[in-house]
Amino acid sequence: MAQPIPTVILKAKREKPLLNRHPWVFSGAIARVEGAPKPGDWVQVRSARGDSLGVGYFNAASQIRVRMVSWGDSAELPALAPLIAKAIDRRKSFNFSDDTSAYRLINAEADQLPGLVVDRYGEHIVMQCLTMGIDVRKQEIAALLQAQLRPKSIIERSDAKIRRKEGLPLTSSVLHGTAPDAPVLIRENGLAFEVNLMDGHKTGFYLDQRVNRAIVGQARFSAEKDVLNLFSYTGGFGVYAAAAGAKSVVNVDSSVEVLESAERNFAHNQLLDEQKHEFIAANAFEYLRHLDETGARFDTIVLDPPKFVNSQRDLDKASRGYKDLNRLAFRLLRPNGVLATFSCSGLMPLDLFQKIVFSASVEAQVSATVLQLLTQAPDHTMSLTFPESFYLKGLLCAV
Ligand code: SAH
Repeated sequence: MAQPIPTVILKAKREKPLLNRHPWVFSGAIARVEGAPKPGDWVQVRSARGDSLGVGYFNAASQIRVRMVSWGDSAELPALAPLIAKAIDRRKSFNFSDDTSAYRLINAEADQLPGLVVDRYGEHIVMQCLTMGIDVRKQEIAALLQAQLRPKSIIERSDAKIRRKEGLPLTSSVLHGTAPDAPVLIRENGLAFEVNLMDGHKTGFYLDQRVNRAIVGQARFSAEKDVLNLFSYTGGFGVYAAAAGAKSVVNVDSSVEVLESAERNFAHNQLLDEQKHEFIAANAFEYLRHLDETGARFDTIVLDPPKFVNSQRDLDKASRGYKDLNRLAFRLLRPNGVLATFSCSGLMPLDLFQKIVFSASVEAQVSATVLQLLTQAPDHTMSLTFPESFYLKGLLCAV
């Protein structure tokens, strides 16, 4: 028999989400806590009737008091090692070719490790600790990753604002080895990208868009095309389009720093050509209006804005933002042009996003057909019982 651990007892009739294996226990569902769990400690969760629902990690500072890691009536403490090994093993079945050296190894709740994100960038590992339960175990986790993967370094990028909701400070550190003192070069589908592991966005690169970059980079959407890459970050979609023989690529981002990196990424692939490709530091909303006024037109447009919806309250305002962008983009497309439009907001449902893009097309007076539904790359696993893990949605539209 395992050592008794502190217990969280739910209010009556609040066990349903847990029986359905949704891994979050909100403070409002809890009747009382027995024992005195410290931040991140394992707790057993029980229904009001006393049935054991599973074990998770506790955080009194968060509205999400418990993150479930195991289910059912066992009071055994979940072991991290097999969960980590299983997530990493799962990636082997994706058969990443030698042409791709960067991908997600552990995707938090969707790999049964709430709050733990681990990405591989060639010989380096970048880890995000987004919950208290993971934060208090990060040394143990780093040791497990070190033993299994033998990386040159393990970098912790726990600087995502969401940590504040867990009562955790924002921090970056090196948990193992020595951090690279320059951006590292990764390969993605045979293309080279520099990635700044220490202070790039997220863990350094938008790995979730890998498959969609390859789709836009097909000859039929890029060869001999004039391509507009909005919210370009370090050039991702633009590099693919240029490599596929685009006539021109205009990359737009509000950050000068990421555009400098985008230029270098074009250069890393021998694609830098001042006559053909541009790197424009501008607000995408304003730049789209400017392009419309100048009469510029494009064959392919990528619209990959940052997350607009951080809470349910933002949904209306965000919807207007998405509609504006999509309407402006549709207006700039030539006949037979293609728009790849995305929302990475988990709180934006696919059906609402589709309605927004549809009404944007009506307002722009174009008739658009969806060629393909797009989503996050498969290493960014989704959990059936945790719909929040399906966050990236996109529509590839032809006009
Ligand atoms: N498509 C990219 C990822 C885009 S991330 C890729 O494949 O790598 C979103 C980008 O939008 C960030 O680089 C951010 O700097 C930029 N951004 C945010 N607000 C913006 C705005 N109003 N106008 C232009 N760029 C913006």
